[in-house]
Amino acid sequence: MPLCSICHITEATQTGSHLLSAFMVESTIGKRGEEEGYIISAEANFDYRNNTGAAPIVEDYLFCRGCEQRMAYVENYVCTEYRDKLKKPGYKSNFRDVSKTEYIIREALNINYYALLLFICTVIFRISITKKELFAEFKLTADEEEKLRKIINEALPLYQNFKVKIKRNQFIREINEKAAIFDGLYFIMASYDELEDETISFNMAYPEYTHPYNFIFGQFILYFFFIKPRKNIPNLDFFNLMNELDIDLIYNGEGANIKTVMLKEGRWKEILNIPRQILVRKKIPGLMKKFLEEFAKNNKHKPTNDDWVKYIDDNFPEG
Ligand SMILES: [Zn+2]
Repeated sequence: MPLCSICHITEATQTGSHLLSAFMVESTIGKRGEEEGYIISAEANFDYRNNTGAAPIVEDYLFCRGCEQRMAYVENYVCTEYRDKLKKPGYKSNFRDVSKTEYIIREALNINYYALLLFICTVIFRISITKKELFAEFKLTADEEEKLRKIINEALPLYQNFKVKIKRNQFIREINEKAAIFDGLYFIMASYDELEDETISFNMAYPEYTHPYNFIFGQFILYFFFIKPRKNIPNLDFFNLMNELDIDLIYNGEGANIKTVMLKEGRWKEILNIPRQILVRKKIPGLMKKFLEEFAKNNKHKPTNDDWVKYIDDNFPEG
């Protein structure tokens, strides 16, 4: 049995660890226990129609039971104080909106900066160490991975007598005292208020984009920096988002209130279309062959252009 990837002390006996926490992917794959998910790959003959459920984001023997519980504590905090309230009119007073023309900057007034950053660190660390196909191409550098591991191990609450029983206030106090270990980490987050069909989103990391790292997890786009974001430096930006926005207004760092860029529905859909178009383009040679074979089986006549377009639309539904 390997040792736990976080504490390096206890055996990694935990099974069924989620790489992305259930609440992050609920919008794309459904509630825990009822997940429906599909892997999309650029490989030409890849069959993306198998419902994989939650399997691509669940892995055994990465962590010990204690570290799993320690991460669950922070996840629970982020889920109840951030995710559950960010878009709910009933919690408007927990946030402050600054409106720009195409988007809103939503500043969180009641969320601990370091706890949310710690949660993000656990997610990025998890998808960096996984052997699962969905994130197989994503890897932090060894130094970055070790930096995050140390932060996570030091900042997560303690597991004692088979439980994590620290009170919320105490946890916040302790993590604030450890603020210095988070120095040098920055991030930008974006989401939306309204989306007609939330299941059309993706869970992806873009391995070739490392300064910053680019991710989309269900309803959140995340850019993660190991150096301070600077306006005049061109950033690698798969979603084509940062260059439109004023980086100085939207980045999160140094313990300031958490900001989330809330995009309009149309803009979010445009972003979802970027990976879709790339995948369709990469897959077309293999797909065309498969389409011709399937079409010949079911039809006597030759396919028209419209048949092909219909096939693409059926297999890559647009939002
Ligand atoms: Zn451990």
